Amino acid sequence: MARIAFIGLGNMGGPMAANLVKAGHEVTGFDLAAPVLKAAEENGVTPASHISQAVKDAEIVVTMLPQGRHVLTAWTDILQSIAQGTLVIDCSTIDVESSRKAHEMAKAASCLSLDAPVSGGTGGASAGTLTFMAGGSQEAFAKAKPILEGMGKKIVHCGEAGAGQAAKICNNMILGISMVGVCEAFVLAEKLGLSHQALFDVASTSSGQCWSINTYCPVPGPVPTSPANNGYKPGFAAALMLKDLRLSQEAALASGASTPLGAEAAQLYALFEKLGNGGRDFSAIIEMFREKV
Ligand code: NAD
Repeated sequence: MARIAFIGLGNMGGPMAANLVKAGHEVTGFDLAAPVLKAAEENGVTPASHISQAVKDAEIVVTMLPQGRHVLTAWTDILQSIAQGTLVIDCSTIDVESSRKAHEMAKAASCLSLDAPVSGGTGGASAGTLTFMAGGSQEAFAKAKPILEGMGKKIVHCGEAGAGQAAKICNNMILGISMVGVCEAFVLAEKLGLSHQALFDVASTSSGQCWSINTYCPVPGPVPTSPANNGYKPGFAAALMLKDLRLSQEAALASGASTPLGAEAAQLYALFEKLGNGGRDFSAIIEMFREKV
C-alpha cells in the first residue's frame, strides 16, 4: 500500500480519493475549497492545510483539477516539495500542450510523470469504474497502474507524454459530434411522424448505432437510464462537453488537423451554453434543435 497525496477533491477527485482509501492506501488531501476538504476527511482522507504539506512524504501524487493553468500552478508547488523519483499523475482533462509542459517540469525535477485523464463521469468515479487513458514512460505507467486500478476498471497506456490527453479529447470530439447527429435524427423523425421507439429499434441495431443512441439516448423511453428520463440532469454537463470540444479545436489548430464537424459541434455547444444550458446534461441539446430553448 502506498502513501498518496491527492490534490483537487471536487466532484471527481473527492470520490476517487475515497476509493484509494477503501483500497487500503494512506491518502493525504488538499483542495482550495474548505467544504470539499471536509467531505474528503469524512471519507478517510487526511486533510492538509497547504499543498506542500500534503505532498511532502508522498510516494505518489495525484492531481484532479479544472484546467491546464491550475495543473501547471499545482505541479510547480508539488515538484518543489517532493523527493526525486516520486511519481506525479495528472487525471484532469487539460490541453495537450500544458500536459506536455507538466511532463517536462517533472523530468527537470527528476520525477516520474503520467497524464491519465478519465472517462466515466462522477458515477464512474464513485463506483471505481473509470477508464484511464495514460501517457508517459513505461516506468511511470507500471508504477501508476496498481494505484489507478483502485479507482477504475480499464487502464490503457496510449503512448508517451500527452498521449492520454490526446486520446481523451479525440474520444470526446467523437462523442460531441455523434450526440449532435443522433439528436438531429430524432428531431427529423418527429417531423416525419416516426416514433422515438421505432427509430431507436432500427438505428440502435443497424449502421446508425453508437454510444449516443444505444446507451445515452437523448429522448425519454428507449433507454430508461439515460438523462432524458430524468429531466436532463447530468450525467455529463453541457459545459464540460463544450470544454472538451474547445480543447479538441485548440489541438486541431495547433497540429493542423482538419476537424470541420468538431468545429461545428463546438459552436453548437457554445450556443447551447449561452442560452443558459451549461449545467444541463449535454444530450439536452436536442431541445435546441426543436427550438424550444
Ligand atoms: P470540480 O470543479 O468539481 O473540482 C475541481 C477542484 O479543484 C475544486 O474543488 C477546486 O477547489 C480544486 N482546485 C482548483 N485549483 C486548485 C489548486 N491549485 N489546488 C488545490 N485544489 C484546487 O471539477 P471536477 O468535475 O472534479 O473535474 C475535475 C477534472 O476532471 C476536470 O479537468 C474535468 O474536465 C475532468 N472530468 C470531469 C468529469 C465530470 O463528469 N465531472 C468527467 C471526466 C473528466
